[in-house]
Formats: sequence, structure tokens, C-alpha cells
Amino acid sequence: MDSDRFSLAGKVTVVTGGRQGIGKVVSHQLAEQGSDVVILDLADASEVAAEIAAQHGVRAIALQCDVTDPDGVAQAIEQAAADMGTLDLLFNNAGICLHKPALDCTPTDFTNVVNVNLNGIFFVAQAFARYLVAQGKTGNIVNTASMSATIVNTPQGQASYNSSKAGVMHLTKSLAVEWAPLGIRVNSISPGYINTEMTGNVRQDWRELWTEMIPFKRMGNPAELAGAVIYLLSDASTYTSGADLIIDGCFVTV
Ligand code: NDP
Repeated sequence: MDSDRFSLAGKVTVVTGGRQGIGKVVSHQLAEQGSDVVILDLADASEVAAEIAAQHGVRAIALQCDVTDPDGVAQAIEQAAADMGTLDLLFNNAGICLHKPALDCTPTDFTNVVNVNLNGIFFVAQAFARYLVAQGKTGNIVNTASMSATIVNTPQGQASYNSSKAGVMHLTKSLAVEWAPLGIRVNSISPGYINTEMTGNVRQDWRELWTEMIPFKRMGNPAELAGAVIYLLSDASTYTSGADLIIDGCFVTV
């Protein structure tokens, strides 16, 4: 196959949650493939954007945006398009996790997680797709789900997270079918346990237990997800939509 089909040169990719963790590392890799990058994050990610621009010779900007606020999301997409001239691709990745037994979860605990992880994914995908349709453009979305969409992790209680991620996986399929006639592909990745700020402060005995349970006997690194995101965002996957790619060191297979 022509390796240029994996190139993202000339594209502009929006990345949510790109200030740290998976979003930050994947943003660097997307830029390495030639894409300009727009980071949308709750906090100021302008330092990360400057680092990406300097290291990869692409354009990169950061806009502050809470993915749970549909009006703010629509404004951020509009601003991003105005600043960059156009938008082509979306890595819809921002998320949060709560480790708390279901019996102890308050209504706010539960709805906060679902609001960021599921509603936020929808609001950003919708605003991005509306932008594409208004411009008469086709485009391409990758959502970050999780292996927790498929299995129930232990020993931690994380019912809010698991159910929100199962929602992301089925939302992905629903949007893929609905937007196929518009030329908008929608896929998801489902990472296993990945070393990021999100997992870095989890109690040590749980991290050791997870590692023991993973057939690869180690947690993954964000860079090990980048190839899948590049593949799904690029012209290497033009016949792929509604798919979920589990990248987990074989965790859900056992
Ligand atoms: P991190 O906590 O390291 O990074 C998440 C990023 O999302 C942060 O920059 C955070 O911003 C941003 N964010 C959180 N809430 C919002 C919001 N409301 N609006 C905008 N941005 C927000 O997490 P990871 O990199 O580990 O996770 C990235 C994605 O991957 C998540 O969807 C997560 O569920 C998923 N995932 C992670 C796994 C792992 O093991 N790490 C495994 C499977 C899936 P700020 O810091 O400024 O608040």
C-alpha cells in the first residue's frame, strides 16, 4: 500500500483533552504525520501547542473549552475554524474517571462522569459534524472509548466510567451509520490500562494488580495508541466506520 495514505499532511485535526496524557502524546504524533493541531482543553494548553509547533513545524493552537458545555463547544469549533482556515479531523478524547463503589456514588458523582465522557463526546462530535456539513466538507472522527466499554474492571468500582464508555462505543456506531451518507467516518479506540496522569495517582497496590492481570505484564504508553488514531483518521482506512479498536496488551482477550 502507498504509505502516503497514512499521511495527514495538509489536514487540521482538533484534539480534545490534549493538554496532557493520551491527547498530548497523540497530538505530537498527528503533527509528526503532518497535521496541524487544535487542542481543546478545560485548562490552558498553549504551552503544549507551542511545543508541537516548534518540534514538528506545523501550526498548532490551544483553545480553552469545557466539552460538557454545548454552546462553548460550538463557539470553540467556530473559533478553531476561523483561526486555522479549515478543520478536517477530530480526535474526541477528553475524559475523566471516578473510582468509587456504586453504592456510595452521589447523583453528582455519576452525572459528572457521564456528562464529560458521553455527553461531551456527543457535543464535540455534533459541533464538528455541523461545521463540516455547513462547509460542504467530508471528515473523520475518532472517539476515545475504553476497554471498560467491553469489560468490568476490578478491583475498583467504576460503574459510572464503564457505562459512559459503553455509551461512547455505541454512540460511535450510531453516528457512523447516521453520517455515512455525509461522508463522515466515525470510529473509536478502546485503550487498556495506559500510563498517564489519569492512572498515575491510582493506589500502587491496584496498579500492581492490574499489571499482573494484563497478559503483556505491563501497562501501555500513550504512544502505543497513536498508530491506531493515525490509521483511523487517515485515508488508509477509507472503508472503515463504526469500528472499535481495542488496544490493551490482550487484557480483554483472557
Ligand atoms: P488525563 O486525565 O491524563 O487527560 C485527560 C485530559 O482531558 C486532560 O487534559 C483534561 O483537562 C481533559 N478534560 C477533562 N475534562 C474535560 C472537559 N470537561 N473539557 C475539556 N477537557 C477536559 O487522561 P488520559 O490521557 O489518561 O485519558 C484520555 C482519554 O482516554 C479519556 O477519555 C480516558 O477515559 C481514556 N482512557 C484512558 C485510559 C488510561 O488508562 N489512561 C484507558 C482507557 C481510556 P484538565 O487536565 O485541564 O482538566
